[in-house]
Amino acid sequence: MKAIGILTSGGDAPGMNAAIRAVVRTAIYYGYKVYGIEKGYRGLLDEEFVEMDLSSVGDIIQRGGTILKSSRCDEFKTAEGREKAVEILENYGIESLVVIGGDGSFTGAKLLSELGVKTIGIPGTIDNDLAYTDYTIGFDTAMNTVIDAIGKIRDTSSSHDRVNIVEVMGRNCGDLALYAGVAGGAETIVVPEREIRTDEIVSKLRTTQKRGKKHSIIVLAEGADIEGGALGLKNALTVKDKADVRITVLGHVQRGGSPSAFDRILASKLGNKAVELLIEGKSKRVVGIKDNKIIDLDIDDALSMEKEFDQDLYEMAKILSI
Ligand code: ADP
Repeated sequence: MKAIGILTSGGDAPGMNAAIRAVVRTAIYYGYKVYGIEKGYRGLLDEEFVEMDLSSVGDIIQRGGTILKSSRCDEFKTAEGREKAVEILENYGIESLVVIGGDGSFTGAKLLSELGVKTIGIPGTIDNDLAYTDYTIGFDTAMNTVIDAIGKIRDTSSSHDRVNIVEVMGRNCGDLALYAGVAGGAETIVVPEREIRTDEIVSKLRTTQKRGKKHSIIVLAEGADIEGGALGLKNALTVKDKADVRITVLGHVQRGGSPSAFDRILASKLGNKAVELLIEGKSKRVVGIKDNKIIDLDIDDALSMEKEFDQDLYEMAKILSI
């Protein structure tokens, strides 16, 4: 019987389990054997394989993290490492591999496909930093986690007339900061894609303070181009505005938690689609969602696309926070 392997790789994201469930159940439905490969490409090279059945993915659709675990693996970046991986997969009769992860993991999948393994990538990352898809699995849940935190911070910020800087994940992509900032009613949103001077932030604080609003929420992406990061901004605001500024770094809480309904449904659709593509004999593809439709495209094409920043939303956020 032909077998399909599945692994999760790179940073984990809520909804990865729902995707694993969809892949395993769809593959078994169509008569395939499925191996779960633990700890991403590391586990592939270490032969950490578990045969999956219908019940091994029971009771996981609502769980954050990934039951298959994830890791980073430098050995897989070498040609020898990948040749070894192909040999191991052949020994298990695995012709196809579903990889759930981000762009690094997709590059690995692409290189594996060039060695004859059929591969399909499913986007799993809270960063939403893949250009070819409107959403990645985990982004919606992370955004909701941030909004929840902003709500709580807003309460205490308002009680004490404080300025609160909320640092969220996003080294190169400001989607999490932008979307959560809009939904959380942040006064200022600072993203890696757009430069903003501290003077601008100060003058905005002064304007809102003049009309009686003493508290303020600044959502800052971790990769934002601001001198000294959150601490640098706090110091600048303290000096220039004499504001009482606090910093909340949300950190890894953003990566955990039960996936939202949106992420569970997206993950289910993408997992199902990935197996259908393999059954059609397709390889070196990634699946995603564009204009509310499930799509698939060549990995190279997907990775060469440049992520577009949502300038309209960014401008709108400025208008709504005057
Ligand atoms: P993400 O998939 O979230 O972008 P990483 O960039 O850390 O996360 O990639 C996860 C893993 O994918 C790496 O540890 C490595 O095993 C594999 N990988 C990443 N980049 C490459 C590459 N250029 N060639 C081969 N494998 C890669």
